[in-house]
Amino acid sequence: MAKQQSDDARGASRFLFLGNRLWLDFLNTHIKQDGEWVDLLDRFADLVHWLVEARVLDDIEAQEALRRWPNSPEQAQILAQARSFRAVLRAAVENITRAQPITGEVVSAINGILRNHCRSLELTFAGDKLTSQYVGAITEPLHLLAPIAESAAQALSGDDIALTRKCENPTCVLHFHDTTKNHTRRWCSMETCGNRMKAAAHYARVRVKDETENPSATAGDAKPSS
Ligand SMILES: [Zn+2]
Repeated sequence: MAKQQSDDARGASRFLFLGNRLWLDFLNTHIKQDGEWVDLLDRFADLVHWLVEARVLDDIEAQEALRRWPNSPEQAQILAQARSFRAVLRAAVENITRAQPITGEVVSAINGILRNHCRSLELTFAGDKLTSQYVGAITEPLHLLAPIAESAAQALSGDDIALTRKCENPTCVLHFHDTTKNHTRRWCSMETCGNRMKAAAHYARVRVKDETENPSATAGDAKPSS
């Protein structure tokens, strides 16, 4: 039931789930729109909603988290912790995409959260399919971030870390794990950045062609007609 509600919520989501990895989806909650950074995790409740849509929490656990930390100062502190961890993950992903080594600071931040990981994955039946979800009480704010740290730890120690990519649109800050067969994914989304960049490339090609075939158009010196 909770799973079904989560699916419905995800359908109309303002969050982006295009990273193919939990830690990259979490990173993609800090985006750029019209050149300005926009934080999709504006309030503690946003973080909780994101965790539900990312299927880290079910709806009951989300309500419990909101009840457990009802005060603004507590919520602000948890949110600050989440954002600070996200900044560490951004540093990690930038290391990866620039083929630079991961720093000790990144490893320490991930380990600090993993040490607090008291929840475990469990398989459950969802109709005729199996699904896995975290079970166990969430009693500390760091428990909320533990599955993200686990996802990052698995990625950073995995063999396919080189498939972590940044969208090729230079103005886009979204990242994804390339799961395409030939590892040819270039964009966060074909509908947005893909089409925009292809249109820009097409325009540039047409302009070069015009300039080559009709240099007078750009050189400004009209050729005499013969
Ligand atoms: Zn993009």
